[in-house]
Amino acid sequence: MIMINILHIGIDDTDSPDGMCTTYLASQIINKFKDNNIELIDYPRLIRLNPFARFKTRGNGGVALKILNDSKADLAKEIVLGEVEKLSMFDCDNTNPGVIFYDGEITQEMKDYAFRAIYEFITIDEAEKFAKSVGCEIHKFKKGRGIIGSLASISLPLTDFTFELLAYRVPENFGTLRKIDYESVYEMDRQTFPDTFENVDYSEDYVAIEPKTPCPVLYGIRSNNVEALKKAYHIVKVDEVIDDCCIFKTNQHTDMHIQKSADIASMKQFGCYEVKGTVKNKPTIIDGGHMFFYIFDESGEIECGAYEPTKNFRKIVSHLMPGDVIRVFGGIGEHNTFNIEKFQVMELNDIEYKNPVCECGKRMTSAGKNKGFKCKKCGRKIESGEKVPIKIFRNLKKGQFYETPVSARRHLSKPLCRMNFD
Ligand code: ATP
Repeated sequence: MIMINILHIGIDDTDSPDGMCTTYLASQIINKFKDNNIELIDYPRLIRLNPFARFKTRGNGGVALKILNDSKADLAKEIVLGEVEKLSMFDCDNTNPGVIFYDGEITQEMKDYAFRAIYEFITIDEAEKFAKSVGCEIHKFKKGRGIIGSLASISLPLTDFTFELLAYRVPENFGTLRKIDYESVYEMDRQTFPDTFENVDYSEDYVAIEPKTPCPVLYGIRSNNVEALKKAYHIVKVDEVIDDCCIFKTNQHTDMHIQKSADIASMKQFGCYEVKGTVKNKPTIIDGGHMFFYIFDESGEIECGAYEPTKNFRKIVSHLMPGDVIRVFGGIGEHNTFNIEKFQVMELNDIEYKNPVCECGKRMTSAGKNKGFKCKKCGRKIESGEKVPIKIFRNLKKGQFYETPVSARRHLSKPLCRMNFD
């Protein structure tokens, strides 16, 4: 058997809110690789990690590349470190790049580490010790926090994956208004959805492929396959020069951050879960537009939230009623509230208990504690104080999933149009 020796390269924490993007840095590295006849094995990877990580700039993404570990490996390392040195936003306190080189098979303990980087918090020390123990070459710039994500980016097994095509701007346009023909984006969505997804939020009339930050990305299109991305690329029109394009293989929109929880009490703060529970109270909206309600099971209860940015999703949530059984997907944030990404209706409570209707047709009112009901119209009284069950119409459907709109969705959240991809 011929053993192929592979060099894994992980890069993270090079950008800041004022600019840059680790994927752009990767695309610059790939161009330099091409100039030197260094070929990538497989697509470059864009890996999203713990959505609650404290020092993330935006979407907590790291990048990984794979090449042959041959006579050009030293040159490749030189290129990577040179580009990180040249392009990272070192002025930002929060930018602490880390690069990992690893030569060999990805072991089970490395895969486990990668999942921990999605589910939990890892310290720089811990990542460094582990990287050393498996024989990685470690390069830390400033505090070198990026090694946490770099190591996870090379190690994560992609059992489910999607692709993202990123189009980059010429440097002189960085930070200026992007010139994307929105109508062509709607057209692209019409022609390529559901192979591509998350292009447009129709409820908010919002073009989601365009970043809202001054980074080098002109737009990003997400898809289940590369063919659809190529088609989409030719449909989207822009009125500025596209400097470069790169397709990444990613764990975006796979629900990889979600752990199945046996019950409510087993969930921990800053974890993301799928859990089943019964709705305890009618959802209520507070100042600021956030909506809350509780779910419970035999182990305990938790407050669930649909926040203001989820817009129309709150209207759907408002239809929930006490007694409904739902399966919620989401994460437990700062205030110990379960932030809902989507939910599935398991059981609908379609019975409501109401005061009886009088013979004259008017609904009766209570006649006082233990005194039954009375009719305000005709004066009739009945002794029984028992309310009567009434079958009610529900706006929600048993079995159906409901999700937050594209504009409020996490990178890792699996949209309903991908729910049959496992
Ligand atoms: P962008 O999405 O624009 O590339 P970002 O949101 O990925 O930016 P980074 O600049 O990469 O933000 O910063 C995230 C930092 O968090 C990195 O240093 C990364 O190593 C670290 N990190 C990633 N996962 C974890 C984790 N599970 N625990 C602790 N730190 C983490």
